[in-house]
Amino acid sequence: MDLSLTPAHEALRRRLRTWLAANLPRSRRDDRSVEYGEPERIPAAKAWQRKLYEAGFVAMRWPREYGGQGADVLEQTIVDDELVRAGAPGLIGLLGVEMLGPTLIEWGTPEQKRRFLPPVLTADEIWCQGYSEPDSGSDLASLRTRAELDGDHFVVNGQKVWTSYAHLADWMFCLVRTDPEAPKHAGISYLLIDMRSAGITVRPLVQMTGDAGFNEVFFEDVHVPRANLVGGLHQGWQVANSTLRHERNMLGSSARTQQLLHAVQRLARRRGIADDGAIRQRLANLAIRVEAMRLQGLGTGGLWSFELMFTLGMIIGGGTSQIQKNIISERGLGMPRG
Ligand SMILES: Cc1cc2nc3c(=O)[nH]c(=O)nc-3n(C[C@H](O)[C@H](O)[C@H](O)COP(=O)(O)OP(=O)(O)OC[C@H]3O[C@@H](n4cnc5c(N)ncnc54)[C@H](O)[C@@H]3O)c2cc1C
Repeated sequence: MDLSLTPAHEALRRRLRTWLAANLPRSRRDDRSVEYGEPERIPAAKAWQRKLYEAGFVAMRWPREYGGQGADVLEQTIVDDELVRAGAPGLIGLLGVEMLGPTLIEWGTPEQKRRFLPPVLTADEIWCQGYSEPDSGSDLASLRTRAELDGDHFVVNGQKVWTSYAHLADWMFCLVRTDPEAPKHAGISYLLIDMRSAGITVRPLVQMTGDAGFNEVFFEDVHVPRANLVGGLHQGWQVANSTLRHERNMLGSSARTQQLLHAVQRLARRRGIADDGAIRQRLANLAIRVEAMRLQGLGTGGLWSFELMFTLGMIIGGGTSQIQKNIISERGLGMPRG
């Protein structure tokens, strides 16, 4: 696999390195407060995302017409790698950039794209994901939060749980049941809900880490304009799966894992145990796994999966391998016909 970079890729890497050296304050390096959802750090986190966006390094893979860079996987990976290398803080608007944005680009109306995509990029509006409910996690399609259509708006009642960042979010992309009579996957719709609407209560859930990144969200007669329906009425399951596809892609990215690896390596050096044989072995093992994950994410993986699938044909074409074995055994070895 040829992973050598083109001159354009090298130029992108140099441009970002130079930009980071000039724009990433030392005090913000390795700052993970965004991941812990610390409210007092939000303005700085928003300012960072806006700055990064204005420099052209946010939503690299979105099409240019929606404010992205139309970048390929390798360009995105270069940007991720450089941000990790510099210890840059994560994006406060990650769910918007990685999950809602691509979903709206695929399913949204022109008006929804015009209204919602720009503030996702600049972090002027933060999004959370309202999927899970107390009895609907793995079996997501059994969700019961109800939305009844009443003229030009829906009235939403029910509860979500494990909603990351709901306490900071301006908006939620939310799955609701709009047809309780239909089979469970067929009665769901996908709504965009303003978190400041009357009737919404957010209750933080404190985790064993001590921070409260998750929340319970309660809806009591919450009015949501019909214009905030994404995709067709009762067709939210298809839209939800688009978002899930993008979410899994985001979670599978090696950027965060690389950042953690660097942190563990630094910790081992600080504690003076980095040269201990057993520790070195474990760090090397981790580094190999993280690198394998990074390479797999490069998308040149597409070439390998193509080759793998293509070579399956090689054991069929020109006579299958079983037939070849028959020929060898019968004609070469003089064995009786099978
Ligand atoms: C870090 C984190 C962030 C999250 N953020 C959000 C968020 O922002 N928004 C949101 O909506 N949700 C969020 N979630 C919730 C997450 O989507 C659910 O926790 C997940 O879908 C599992 O659902 P559950 O917790 O109800 O577990 P359950 O569905 O109760 O599952 C419990 C166990 O049973 C197993 N199990 C269940 N059914 C089957 C089956 N059919 N076959 C085999 N095994 C099965 C599961 O694998 C699991 O081990 C978050 C969760 C985490 C950990």
